[in-house]
Order: sequence, then structure tokens, then C-alpha cells
Amino acid sequence: MRIIDGVYIVGGAEYNLSKGCNIYLIDTGGELLLVDIGLEDDVKLVEENIKDENLNPKDVSILFITHPHMDHAGGAARAKRLFECRLAAHEIAAKIIESNFQKSRDRSTAAQVEIKLHGDESLTFGDFEVHVLDTPGHTKEGGDLCYLIKANGKSILFTGDTAFKCERGLMGGHPVTAWIGKRSSEDVETYLNTLRRLSKIVKPDILLPGHGFLALREGWKELNECIRIVAKHLEEPCLT
Ligand SMILES: [Zn+2]
Repeated sequence: MRIIDGVYIVGGAEYNLSKGCNIYLIDTGGELLLVDIGLEDDVKLVEENIKDENLNPKDVSILFITHPHMDHAGGAARAKRLFECRLAAHEIAAKIIESNFQKSRDRSTAAQVEIKLHGDESLTFGDFEVHVLDTPGHTKEGGDLCYLIKANGKSILFTGDTAFKCERGLMGGHPVTAWIGKRSSEDVETYLNTLRRLSKIVKPDILLPGHGFLALREGWKELNECIRIVAKHLEEPCLT
């Protein structure tokens, strides 16, 4: 499904496109880029969804991973084989992806990460640029990244599981612990700082999260709403 010219959603359980997270495709005008891939079983569906947009899956040159959880990166090895693309992830995420997702109960094939990121890099594809933002907080081991692009004059932020569209509260009303787990208040503070820093350095028009609804206007409002909810959780952890 086209989101705006050059940006598509090609996977996502909530959209019946695949079983794992939301998966986005960016057409840079020459190369195609994927943001996340979902589970191993999702890869074939993603391939079909790309073809449905009249694009060639073999033109995918890089798969960008937001964080090393199975529902986002589990299909990385299969995607690399099928699309003949390279893999890009935070260096902490890369260790987990390359070591067979040790921390996961599910098994998935390990995949080599060719492009190891830290945040603050810009990768260029002709006139097109992908800016990488280091956003620790969601993944316990670290390794969360957000990706920022400009397309059609709009600033578009791919947030993985760092920020969601806050319909009925964060992640559709789930408590904060439902998606960062039972964590120390220091960890929650790290996460809150990430959200605050994000909201200062980017003002996304469109916020494309790893799950659930897409915020197609005033994406920056969702960042502010996430900040509000996480800050409230820090004050009264039992209630949110
Ligand atoms: Zn997720």
C-alpha cells in the first residue's frame, strides 16, 4: 500500500499484509530500501507485496533493521537470500542478529550485518538520504535505531518500537511495561530521554511505527504524546 509517493507499507499484522511488525519500503528512485522485515515466514509475503506495487524485490539493496527483536528482524537471513540485499543495523543489534538471536526462545537463522550503525550517520542514495538516529530504550540490550527521510517535502520518521501512534494511549492503550518490559526506573528514564531528544531534533510530519496505526499528519504530536505517557509511568508506575 502506498503511503506517499516513494514510500509503501509492505508488511504488518494489523494490515493483514504479513504476521509480524509493520514493514516499509522506500523507493529512492533507483534502489529500494526496506525498514524491518518481520518474521521468517513473512519474507515471502513481503516479496509478494512488493510485486503488487509493481516494483521488483530484487531491487531491494539494503534492509534496515530498527531493533533486534524477532518480529522485526527474524526474517533477515531469508530476506538477504531472496532479495540479495545487504543488512544494516545498530552494532549492538548486529551482535544479536549475527549470533542467532541467542536471547530469543524462537530460533531464527543468524544473518551477517554488513552495515553496522551507531546513529548520527547519513546514508545517501543519489539525491536521497537516510538519516540514522540512535534511540536506546525499547530493547533491553540496546541497539534501537530510528530512521529519518525526506520525501515529497515531508519529514518521515520510522520509529520501530520506540514510538507509536498514540491512539487511546501508547500502543493502543497498553501499559508502558507491555512494550519495554519490567524494567528499572533508570531504564525507563533512558527511554524517556530518547523520546525527549527525538522530539527536539526531529519534527516528523509522518510517523511510521513498528506496529499499529500510521500517523500520516502531525507525526510529531505522537512523539509528544509518547513522552507524556512515559513520563506519567515514571511518576506512577502501577497505573500506566
Ligand atoms: Zn515489535
